[in-house]
Amino acid sequence: TPEPTTPQPNAGVMQIAAYVPGRDKAAPGVRLHKLSSNETPLGASPAAIDAYREAADRLEIYPDGSSHELRRAIAEVHGLNPDNIVCSNGSDELLGLLASTYVGPGDEGIFTEHGFLVYRIQILAAGGTPVVAPETDHRADVDAILAAVTERTRIVFLANPNNPTGTYLSDEEVRRLHAGLPPHVLLVLDAAYAEYVRRNDYASGIELVSANRNVVMTRTFSKIHGLAGLRIGWLYGPAEIVDALNRVRGPFNVNAPAIAAGSAAIRDRAHVDKAIAHNDKWLPRLTEAFEAMGLKVTPSVGNFVLVHFPDGDAARSAAAADRYLVERGYVLRQVVPYGLPNALRMTIGSDEANQGVIDALAAFMRQ
Ligand code: PMP
Repeated sequence: TPEPTTPQPNAGVMQIAAYVPGRDKAAPGVRLHKLSSNETPLGASPAAIDAYREAADRLEIYPDGSSHELRRAIAEVHGLNPDNIVCSNGSDELLGLLASTYVGPGDEGIFTEHGFLVYRIQILAAGGTPVVAPETDHRADVDAILAAVTERTRIVFLANPNNPTGTYLSDEEVRRLHAGLPPHVLLVLDAAYAEYVRRNDYASGIELVSANRNVVMTRTFSKIHGLAGLRIGWLYGPAEIVDALNRVRGPFNVNAPAIAAGSAAIRDRAHVDKAIAHNDKWLPRLTEAFEAMGLKVTPSVGNFVLVHFPDGDAARSAAAADRYLVERGYVLRQVVPYGLPNALRMTIGSDEANQGVIDALAAFMRQ
């Protein structure tokens, strides 16, 4: 092969589809309801906004490179040791760091069929080989994941609950998955939506992390805390993994206003409870309303629902519904890249937005 004449990216990079940002614009004169990225309709905690504004007085100073204040706040609220926490510029950053730290060329990383897309991207970017484990009824399947393990497997990513399906594995199922993995395979439990889950058999993974050396849990401030624009994520993990991540992460990866606002947000339990109550009210209502229209809804425990449109009915396809809703200002998410060509994911929005989608979709289905 001839010498390349221009810089070439790593082999896996060109297998990654170029990022297509979600739509966030409505037609002129139409009010926009953005229900496409699982953001909260409640906004950020007022205490977090105040802390953010105060931090604006010190922007010439580098942030604390160890995010002490934020790690202390997270540790207090969750009853953890701050030494086992790493903070990041969104939890996406952690997923990338985990892949690049534990996966190299020739190594395999496993995730599930409709799993969060960032896993595949980061495994490829690390030079590794993505391995997809089939799901059953849009749910992760422990046996299928274990069957996908080979001697080259280095990492397993599991979103629990998963985006975009909204389904989850019980604590018992996650423990069975962990028990079936070789001790050198890292299990990443991505619990971005943990706060929304209202099931007794669910666990975000804290206990499993505490008792093992090959499990980490990642969390985010982008969803229930309403700080997606600030980009804050965190990881809870065993000392060796925390040490490795602290070696490779950027020295100032979390900015100062984010540290201040995140610390205030996680201590505002009342704001979190309000968000949970709003979700509890709308999750069953939206599910029932869509089912009453003859649509199938995957049972969700998150702050979003996956709605399936009838196959073979072009006038009532997900793409047609998406166009119809966008014209009326309701921006949902098409999930074609997730291998779900005829479904839309809807984030639970404000009372007004949710009712608006119900009314618009009912009219669309009656056409
Ligand atoms: N994991 C899952 C399952 C998600 O849905 C998201 C947000 N789309 C993330 C991680 C990343 O969140 P962030 O980078 O905003 O923390």
